[in-house]
Amino acid sequence: MGLPKIVVLGAGYGGLMTVVGLQKQLNLEEAEVTLVNQNPYHYVTTKLHEPAAGTLDPEYVRVSLDEVINPNKVKFVQDRVTKLDVENKQVQLEQGDPLPYDTLVFALGSAPETFGIKGLLENAYFIRNLDGVAVIRERMEQLFTQYKPQDGSDEPLNIVVGGAGFTGIEYVGELVDRIPELCAQHGIPQEKVRLINIEAAPTVLPGFDKDLVDYAVKYLEEKGVEFKINTPIEECTPEGVVLKGGEEIQSSLVVWTGGVRGHVLLEESGIETMRGRVKVDEYLRVPGHENIFVIGDSSLIFNDQERPYPPTAQMATQQGQLLAKNLLAQLRGGEMKSFRFESKGTLASLGGSTAMGLVGTKKVYGKVASFLKKANDLRWFFLLGGVSLMFKKMKF
Ligand code: FAD
Ligand code: NAD
Repeated sequence: MGLPKIVVLGAGYGGLMTVVGLQKQLNLEEAEVTLVNQNPYHYVTTKLHEPAAGTLDPEYVRVSLDEVINPNKVKFVQDRVTKLDVENKQVQLEQGDPLPYDTLVFALGSAPETFGIKGLLENAYFIRNLDGVAVIRERMEQLFTQYKPQDGSDEPLNIVVGGAGFTGIEYVGELVDRIPELCAQHGIPQEKVRLINIEAAPTVLPGFDKDLVDYAVKYLEEKGVEFKINTPIEECTPEGVVLKGGEEIQSSLVVWTGGVRGHVLLEESGIETMRGRVKVDEYLRVPGHENIFVIGDSSLIFNDQERPYPPTAQMATQQGQLLAKNLLAQLRGGEMKSFRFESKGTLASLGGSTAMGLVGTKKVYGKVASFLKKANDLRWFFLLGGVSLMFKKMKF
């Protein structure tokens, strides 16, 4: 009989914390670990809004998997997963042969939630991965290059961001830094550019602390952001968006940040999901499939008040860290431990040197919050690749 086969899908927060934890402690004769990812690199999803706006070099966000994986302990397969064949215990890949598993860790992240809004998938842009944000950045630069206010045209250059959750707010925070640079570069008066952030709920960042929300709104409005709250986008066309009530806003760049759902491969496999996410058990397993673990954005966990935790990198990281220990325990005939999320708080950046958020229960604002947020980014590099990766990223 061969070694037990552990297959980890996805080199994001959850998948890499599982693999890094396993490779630190696994003995070679204990299991065969394979990591599958569509790119030969990891991208830091929590910073994608910055290269999307053009305020950060995309290379900062990219980490080659060579710098993370120990090839003696983990086999890396670069491929796109196309199907989970739960019955035959294998995953199908776009290029390679089907990959059999004894234990599967599903950590492929999320997909944009479009709520069936007409035209969104075809006409809007999404902050999803490094290739996607390069397209957004290029599109924006193209709009500034092509805009000719001297022609006597009074049409403003409109940029629409759909959704004022954390992704929307953080992206808008970067744009208010980038737009003045682009205006200066192309000789466009700044008042010709409108940055409109549209939110369906009665407030931006619904459910978040009111003082912190007020701080963010005031800061961003002073920098020129127009918020339209209580106005769901109902349609997206090549010309712009249509809001509830019929108002139309012309825009050649609509970026949708209206939420996420679980990865489509789970529901396609026949596993029960809620908006694509699997309600996992205390050990992060799929109910009825004890050899399949789902972690990160495709997992669903409820808090003590029976409300779902939001899908975050913090959650995915903690899940991956515990799962690595539990898989080792399983291999060695030990007991698995139950997962319990411990929130360290929430920090949202509002651009280069400003942020706001909660650290534990303490509210932090401005430069202090920004410093803490950047320290948090560095902590992630440390968890991934130790001090050498952290110092390498500090040099940017
Ligand atoms: P991911 O990190 O998305 O990784 C999934 C991996 O799977 C990717 O490498 C992807 O390429 C790969 N993959 C996907 N499909 C396939 C396939 N079919 N085949 C092969 N490979 C595939 N959370 C926080 O806690 N704090 C923050 O500050 C924060 N900021 C954010 C800012 C932005 C702009 C965004 C978009 C999100 C932010 N989040 C933040 C949320 C956080 O990024 C996610 O919750 C987190 O990335 C989820 O981790 P994951 O491991 O589930 O998936
Ligand atoms: P989200 O679900 O948190 O926010 C989406 C927003 O879009 C909501 O406010 C929603 O009301 C709005 N919306 C939905 N339909 C709309 C419509 N038709 N028209 C206008 N607005 C509409 O999604 P997100 O911001 O992409 O975040 C995804 C996850 O990532 C969340 O769990 C979030 O907490 C996490 N995240 C965390 C951070 C951070 O901690 N700094 C940053 C980014 C994302």
